[in-house]
Amino acid sequence: MTQPFRSDETVATTCPYCGVGCGVMVSRGPGALGEPQAEARPVTGDKTHPASFGRLCVKGASLHETIGPGGRLLHARVKGARVSLTQALDTVAERIRVSIEQYGPESVAFYLSGQLLTEDYYVANKLAKGFVRTPHVDTNSRLCMSSAVAAHKRAFGADVVPGCYEDLELADLLVLVGSNAAWNHPVLYQRMKAAAREGRRVVVIDPRHTATSELADLHLSLRPGTDTILFNGLLVWLADCNALDRDYLSVHCGGLSETLDSARQAAPDVASVAAACDLAPDDVEAFYRWFAETPRTVTGFSQGANQSVAGTDKGNAIINCHLATGRVGKPGASPFSLTGQPNAMGGREVGGLANTLAAHMDYQAPGARERVAGFWQCPAVPEGPGLKAVDMFDAVLQGKIRVLWIMATNPAVSLPDSARVREALKRCDTVIVSDCVDRTDTSALADIVLPAAGWGEKDGTVTNSERRISRQRAFLPLPGDARPDWWLVSQVGSRLGHGKAFDYGGPREIFCEHAALTALDNNGSRPLDLSGLADLDQQAYDSLEPVQWPVDQQGQSRARMFAEGGFATPDGRARLIPVSTILPASGPAQPGEVVVNTGRIRDQWHTMTRTARAPRLLAHRDEPFVEMHPRDMAGTGLEEADLAELAGQYGRFVGRVRSSEGQRPGEVFVPIHWNRQFSGDAVASQLIAPVTDPVSGQPESKHGVARVSRYPARWHGRLLVRRDRPRRWRAGYWSHAPLAECDSWWLADVERPDWLRDMMDFLGGRPQLVMQDAAQGRFRAARLVDNRLEAILLVDARPERIPDIAWLASCFALEALDEHQRRGLLSGKDLQAEDIGKVVCSCFGVGDKQITAAVAAGCGTVGALGDKLQCGTNCGSCIPELKTLIEASVTEPS
Ligand code: SF4
Repeated sequence: MTQPFRSDETVATTCPYCGVGCGVMVSRGPGALGEPQAEARPVTGDKTHPASFGRLCVKGASLHETIGPGGRLLHARVKGARVSLTQALDTVAERIRVSIEQYGPESVAFYLSGQLLTEDYYVANKLAKGFVRTPHVDTNSRLCMSSAVAAHKRAFGADVVPGCYEDLELADLLVLVGSNAAWNHPVLYQRMKAAAREGRRVVVIDPRHTATSELADLHLSLRPGTDTILFNGLLVWLADCNALDRDYLSVHCGGLSETLDSARQAAPDVASVAAACDLAPDDVEAFYRWFAETPRTVTGFSQGANQSVAGTDKGNAIINCHLATGRVGKPGASPFSLTGQPNAMGGREVGGLANTLAAHMDYQAPGARERVAGFWQCPAVPEGPGLKAVDMFDAVLQGKIRVLWIMATNPAVSLPDSARVREALKRCDTVIVSDCVDRTDTSALADIVLPAAGWGEKDGTVTNSERRISRQRAFLPLPGDARPDWWLVSQVGSRLGHGKAFDYGGPREIFCEHAALTALDNNGSRPLDLSGLADLDQQAYDSLEPVQWPVDQQGQSRARMFAEGGFATPDGRARLIPVSTILPASGPAQPGEVVVNTGRIRDQWHTMTRTARAPRLLAHRDEPFVEMHPRDMAGTGLEEADLAELAGQYGRFVGRVRSSEGQRPGEVFVPIHWNRQFSGDAVASQLIAPVTDPVSGQPESKHGVARVSRYPARWHGRLLVRRDRPRRWRAGYWSHAPLAECDSWWLADVERPDWLRDMMDFLGGRPQLVMQDAAQGRFRAARLVDNRLEAILLVDARPERIPDIAWLASCFALEALDEHQRRGLLSGKDLQAEDIGKVVCSCFGVGDKQITAAVAAGCGTVGALGDKLQCGTNCGSCIPELKTLIEASVTEPS
């Protein structure tokens, strides 16, 4: 049994990053719980947690590095001035009250987040819909998986993931659509990988060749946006080769005939599918054959499918094939939506999406509005759905929404056309931001900021991708004035005159109320039923083991759903949905333009507000980049390590060029993480149009269009400087990465400055060590104070000629440099030490030069490298890169 506190010093909790929902054990440092000096020690995986069985990826394993006091929002501010929390909450309540009076309830909106705990989410939804009486509640989960939600509801009648993680291991055919699980769901990917066996096949469907492709027996690098054609073609193939499960279809499903007709029109045969998807016909046929002949097939789909103007149709095209073969909710056979965020599903459960009411009840469901209003004891709830994220911010821009409360998310970076979002926030009468991070692009535009509790300080529950509810437990005291989000919302509810409805003694009471609402008048009509959890006492809540919903009154839960039908539709039958072929709205790129695909990288999370605080998470990729096919690089005159400028209709992006044969020609990939705190022009959402899926409202984040050119830098620089410099170095291009002992900046510009003068201005003193070679465009200078390294600037005409900074960064930790070290500064080398090169394995700090040397010395496998250097032996996320280095070493001419 999972115990909240395994010993006096150890707490079982859950990782706050991705939707895998790994169990984490945290040892507390000196100081008892509740004492201000309490600190968390390094975290380990919880071997008893059924999502992860002790595994953690490098993000989870670095959690302890992100929870210190640095960068925390500790006190409330109104118009930039620090105020007491009481004053701030009074102001929030007053602004909401006045706005309701003057402009009506719909002038108030809430923008929530999959980072919130279910309890926080529940209370925010209750305040908005029950007591402010605005329907405008949406969440950043809209950007992540709302298309999967809509597909589930159309097919199953409810937002239910019918399978569980074990199915991904049991499947004899694993199909991954739009999912780079190796980087984005690393622990689940490790489970899939560990389940490899003779005869198990994996098909990866993704325009890009990613780290996940390493697992693939077949990689279908299809033309972006053509997934529906591929799966329509699969349905036709299944029908034509008698691979449909006619019994399951006749008893449990409707809509086959019209869906098949529609599929046949869109994708009549393999040849037409291959042509439309830009795939080899043999590859398409192999996929179809494998699918048809493998009863145990799981199709996992993620943001690559969801983030599209046809995201809902893509989900339904996949689900159609599973319903047609009866492969739903059976061991090793199911469609499976891989959720992005730690509590995206918890937010869906309470009603965090604008089109749902609460507890998986829709506004239009008979009796739902009255049921919820009666349960909350409020006069009424709004009559219909509110505005989804993109439309909500449009309404802010138009002045229809005048008070916007944003919790635990950073829409000024993450929403498409973020420049327009920033303009909306600037124009809004009152922007309230509650967050645990002090400075974000969004909080910089807020009128009121409220300090929220962070991971390790708050208590509650989250639901992962397999419907598993796990506890997040507090093990640190609340710093400064920080309070849990549910408490902040409840205080405002109380100030608005609804104290009785928000008189919660703690998260347990909220969770039980939420569970009771799921059970109310349910009688099997709604799959989300937590009736067995509605009466937990404090001890039971504290010791709650990870459990998958539904949980019936006897406490029985279910790992799988719908194998025997029983769908949440009026007739209990699932629906196959005819899906059309909608290609991305922006259309094919014009000459000189490229299609921009955006996504996540291995070691960062969302807009970096937390993960950028862990230096080892920046070691993998320390600046924004543009991944391009070599053919496109040649066509635009770009070389590896140049800076590329992408100019789109909505903004620009500048990042370092990375050559990748895994990109389709004409398409580039940029990471979503960099924000205006960490780079000058690398907000990926500025390249994305605010166009959305007509059903789900999810933006098309995988298909921007931009003109690509070389940023004409005349110099490139690397600045390392002791922390807490009051200002930035001014340069046309900059990117910032906090390291363990100093801050690091990449710099470049189109003008060549006087570096010595600028460095003296910046540091307030003259560097003692200076080297200048005007002919080579080279400048290097270091300043020491009391023989400690204060700053070093390395400038060159080409970025690859700038030395690696690993050793230089370590010099900032030294109390004094010896003569030998001083002499090595301008060359960037400790002449007596090993140069490890670029870090590949973040867990053990192993660099590419070490790996290449080990391969040359005979380590020809990942296992052998692990034995020698430890790389790849913890989270395993770097294994694809290890393989690449092994292959490169083998194929390099001697
Ligand atoms: Fe956290 Fe990594 Fe597990 Fe995701 S896979 S929950 S980021 S430890």
